[in-house]
Amino acid sequence: MTEAVLKTAADAQAYALAGRAKVTLRSSVSGQHYSYKIKQAEEGVYRYFVSLLHTGDEWTYIGQITENGFGLTRQSKLSFDAPSVKAFAYFVDQVIARQRIPAHLEVRHSGSCGRCGRELTHPESIDSGIGPECARITRTTPSRPRSGTVARFRLEPSAS
Ligand SMILES: [Zn+2]
Repeated sequence: MTEAVLKTAADAQAYALAGRAKVTLRSSVSGQHYSYKIKQAEEGVYRYFVSLLHTGDEWTYIGQITENGFGLTRQSKLSFDAPSVKAFAYFVDQVIARQRIPAHLEVRHSGSCGRCGRELTHPESIDSGIGPECARITRTTPSRPRSGTVARFRLEPSAS
C-alpha cells in the first residue's frame, strides 16, 4: 500500500469524510503519531464513528464526528485526557471545521481509497486518497459541515 501525505485541507477533509478512511496524524515536532478509522454511519448522513488503532490490528472506539464537530459518546473507551483523543479533536477543529492544516501536523492516508477501501494505484489518487471512480461520486456529495458550524468538543455525561 502506498501511504501518502494529504497536502491540502480540502483533500484531507474529503478523504477523512469519504466513508471508510484510515487516517494517520503525525506531529512533525514530537514525532508522535496516531492512526484512526473514520467510518460513516450511513451513506448521506453526516455522522462518522472514529476508532483508534492500538498495536497490531486492534481498534478502540473513541467518539464520533457530527455537524457539531467531534464528540465523545457513552460508548467512548477513552476521554479527552488521552493524547490520541486530543490529537483527533484538534484535527477535526483545524482541518475539517477551519479548513487548514497547521504547519506541524502531518495528515496521512493509508494507501487505500477512503470511500471503498480498495488499494490506490493511480498517482492522482495517491495524492488525494480517493480512487478515480469514487472521486467522481464524492465530488457531487457535500462533505463539510453546514456553513457557520464550528467544531465543539462536547462531552456527553458518562453512564456512571
Ligand atoms: Zn474507491
